Amino acid sequence: MSTIEHTAGAIETGATYLLTDSRQISFPAQSIFFAIKGPRHDGHVFLPELYQKGVREFVLEIGSFTPELRTLTSTWSDARIWVVASSIKALQKTVIAHRSKFSIPVIGIVGSNGKTIVKEWLAQLLAPGQRLVASPKSYNSQIGVPLSVWNMSKENTLGIFEAGISQAHEMEYLQQIIQPTTGIFTNIGSAHDDGFRSRKQKITEKLRLFTKVQKLIYRKDYTEIDEEISLILRPVNPFLKTVSWSVNGGADVQVSYTFKRTTTLISIQGTLGSHRFETIFRDEASLENLIHCLVFMLDFGIPASIIQQRIEVLRPVSMRLELKEGINHCYIIDDAYNNDLQGLSMALNFLGQQEQRKLKTVVLSDVLQTGQTPAELYNVIARLLKEKNIDRLIAIGPEITSQADLFQIEQKEFYADTDAFLRDFAYASLHDNLVLVKGARPFSFEKIVHRLQQKVHGTVLEINLDALTHNLNFYKSKIGSETKIMVMVKAFAYGSGSSEVASLLQYHRVDYLGVAYTDEGVALRQSGITLPVMVMNATPPTFDLLWQYKLEPEIYSRAILTEWIAYIQKRNDPSEAPAVHLKLDTGMHRLGFTENDYDWLVEQLQLNPAIKVSSIFSHLVGADEGEHNDFSRLQYERFVKGAALIETSLGYPVTRHILNSAGIVRFPEYKLDMVRLGIGLYGVEATSRQQDALQTVGTLKTVVSQIKYLAAGETVGYSRKGQITHNSAIATLAIGYADGYDRGLGNGVGKIWVNGTLCPTIGNICMDMTMVDVTEADVSEGDEVIVFGKERPITDLAKSIGTIPYEILTGIGERVKRVFYKE
Ligand SMILES: *Cc1c(COP(=O)(O)O)cnc(C)c1O
Repeated sequence: MSTIEHTAGAIETGATYLLTDSRQISFPAQSIFFAIKGPRHDGHVFLPELYQKGVREFVLEIGSFTPELRTLTSTWSDARIWVVASSIKALQKTVIAHRSKFSIPVIGIVGSNGKTIVKEWLAQLLAPGQRLVASPKSYNSQIGVPLSVWNMSKENTLGIFEAGISQAHEMEYLQQIIQPTTGIFTNIGSAHDDGFRSRKQKITEKLRLFTKVQKLIYRKDYTEIDEEISLILRPVNPFLKTVSWSVNGGADVQVSYTFKRTTTLISIQGTLGSHRFETIFRDEASLENLIHCLVFMLDFGIPASIIQQRIEVLRPVSMRLELKEGINHCYIIDDAYNNDLQGLSMALNFLGQQEQRKLKTVVLSDVLQTGQTPAELYNVIARLLKEKNIDRLIAIGPEITSQADLFQIEQKEFYADTDAFLRDFAYASLHDNLVLVKGARPFSFEKIVHRLQQKVHGTVLEINLDALTHNLNFYKSKIGSETKIMVMVKAFAYGSGSSEVASLLQYHRVDYLGVAYTDEGVALRQSGITLPVMVMNATPPTFDLLWQYKLEPEIYSRAILTEWIAYIQKRNDPSEAPAVHLKLDTGMHRLGFTENDYDWLVEQLQLNPAIKVSSIFSHLVGADEGEHNDFSRLQYERFVKGAALIETSLGYPVTRHILNSAGIVRFPEYKLDMVRLGIGLYGVEATSRQQDALQTVGTLKTVVSQIKYLAAGETVGYSRKGQITHNSAIATLAIGYADGYDRGLGNGVGKIWVNGTLCPTIGNICMDMTMVDVTEADVSEGDEVIVFGKERPITDLAKSIGTIPYEILTGIGERVKRVFYKE
C-alpha cells in the first residue's frame, strides 16, 4: 500500500535526487519525482513507468490526481505520494527549506547577458581555497534554480547561482531559493521581452533577487540600473552596500583599458585600491564580465597578485556540447571544457539519448573541487556510469586513478595525464562506439577530441539541437497536446542529418516520422530509431524491407494497393503486416487517390481486412501563400469528406492529417488528429509571418584558404569572368558547387558573411572553391566565414537565386561534415 498525504508546504523527502524530467533519471531508488503539468507535457503520464523503474517517492498535482490514478497508485507498495496544488511550488518550497539549513556566502547573479560566463569564471577563479556549489551550465529557471540549489551540502563554503526570469513575479521565489548574500547585476540589454511591460520593469523585477543581500556589485554605466537601485531597492534593503564600477567615472571603482597588441591592460582605481591587471581578452563583452569578477575578488579580499595569476588561465567559456563523427566509425560527444558532477550527469543523459551506436565509452578526467573526499566522489561517479550502462571507461588523472577499484566496468583503463593517453592509447581498439569526452579545463581534453574526431575539411554544417527543440516546441504549442505530430525527416532530415535529428525527436517523443523512400526508413531503424515511420514512396521491390523493419507505406494509387494486397496474400504472416497510410489527392495532383477511386478503395479495404489503415492524409498545395487560402479551404473540405467516407466504411477510427509547417501557422483550425512538420523544425517559417518565433538551426561555415591582392585588369577564376576593376583583395573559400553552393551564386550574386561584412562572390563558382571580394572586410587566411546562418539568413540566400530554402538545405553536399551542438 502506498501512503498518500496532502500538503501545502515543503516535502519531507528522504530522496537524494530531485527529478522533474522522467528521461533524466539516474538513481531511481534515491529519487523523488515531481510530476509537473505544463502546456505541452504532463509529467503524470510517466508515473507508471517511473514506478516500474524503482522510483518510490512522487509529488502529484491535485488537478491531475484522477480516480484512475488514485486507484493505480494505491496498489503501489512502499510508494510515498504527496498531493499538492502545484508541483513546481512544492519543489521550490522543498528547496527553500533545504537552503535555509546553510549559512555560507552565496553569490546571486542576474542580468540580460553574461550571467553564465561570470558564474563560470568566478567558479574557476575562486575554486582554489573554496569548496563551491554552483548552477550547472545555464540552469537559471524556475525549475533549474531549485535543482541547482538542492546540491548545496554542509561541505560547501561558497555558492554561486544565476537567476533568469521570463515573467514578472518569478524572482520572488528565486530570491527565497537562492537567498544570496552578495549580488552581481551584469547588465541590461535592449531586447524587448514579452513577459515585461518595459525595460524598467525588467530591471525592477531582476532587483528583487537582491532584497536581502548585504552587497551588490553592478556597472554604473547602465544608468537605469543605477536609478532603480536607489529608487526601488534601497527602500526595502536599507543596509545594502553597493560597489559600483564604471568606465565613465562617478562610481566607486573607476576602470580604464589600454589595448596592447595581443592583450588588454586594465587599470582599477577607487575604493578597492589602485591595481593593474593584464588579460588576453579584448572584446567589450568579455572585459565587462571580467571586471565584475575582478571587483568581486578584490572586495572579497583576494590579493591582486593572486588575482592576476588566476585570470591568466581564464579561457572563453564554451557551454557547447558537440556531437560529431569520429575515427573508426565512432561518434564523439565533445564536452571537454568542464567537469562537475551535475554536468557529467547531463552529458551522460545526452549520451543515453543517442541511438546511432550501441556501445558507449566515456573518457573522463578527475572531477575537481567538489568538497567531497575522493572516495565519496568517485563512488557516486562509479554508480552513475554503471546506471548509464557504460561499456568502457578511459579515466585520466591521478585522483580518479587512485579510485580505480570503485569502477565496476569490465573494460576500464587509467592514465596519469592527457599526454600519457595521447601517447599510449590503442586507437584501433576504439571503434563503432559513442564516445563521451568529458574533462575539467586543466586537462586540455580538446587535444583528445582533436585526435578522436574525423578531420573536418573547411566546410561544416553546424546544427543547433537546442534550436531544433525550440522550434519543435513552437509548433507543438500551436497545436496543443491533443493533436499528434509527425516530423518529416526525408532527404537526410532536410540535409541536417537524419539519425541525429531523429534521435532528438525520439527523445522528445514525437508521434511519427516521415521519410520519402524505404532506404531512408531502414537507415533510421539501423541507427536505433523505434518510432513509427511512414514511407511516402515505397515501391514493391522494397516491400520485404518494409516488413522486416516495421515501416509503414503510403498507399496512393490503385496500382500500389493492388501490389500491396498481392504481397500480403503471398506472405504466411499477414497479421504482422505494417499499417498503411492512405493518401488522398485533394488538389496537388501528384500522388493520391481521387474521388473517382474512393468506391473501389473502400471495396478493396473491406475485402482485405489484413490491411490496417493507420491514417488518411492529404497535402496542401499553397499553405505558405495567402493568395491560395480559398483553395486550401477547398482542399480541406474535400479531404474531410473523403476521409469520413473511408473511415465509416472501415468501422474503426483513423488518424487524419493535412497540415504541413505553413499550414500549422496559417490554418491551426485544420489540425485534425495529426500534423506533419517539415521545414519549420529546421528554422524556416514558410509563411514568413512568425519567422521571429523560430530559431536558426543550421549554420553553413567555411574557411578562407588564401587571400590575393590583385590590380585592375586581372581576372579571377574560369573563363576570366571575374573582372578586377580596381585594386582588390580576393579570398578563396573552401566551398564549391559540389558542396551545394549553387553555381548560380557566382559573379556577385552570392554574398558571404566575412567577419561582419557581406562580401560578393567574384567570378564563376568552381566545383570545390569560391572566390569572394573581401576588399571591404577585415579578414585573414584561415578565418571562418558564414555562407548562411543567423548572420546571413538562408531565406535571403535562396531568394538571390530564385529558389527556396528547402532546395538549399537538401542540396548541401555529402562531404560537408555535420556537427551537432547544444548549449
Ligand atoms: C515534405 C512534406 C511535408 C512537410 O512539408 P513542410 O513544408 O516542409 O512543412 C508534409 N507532408 C508531406 C506529404 C510532405 O511530403
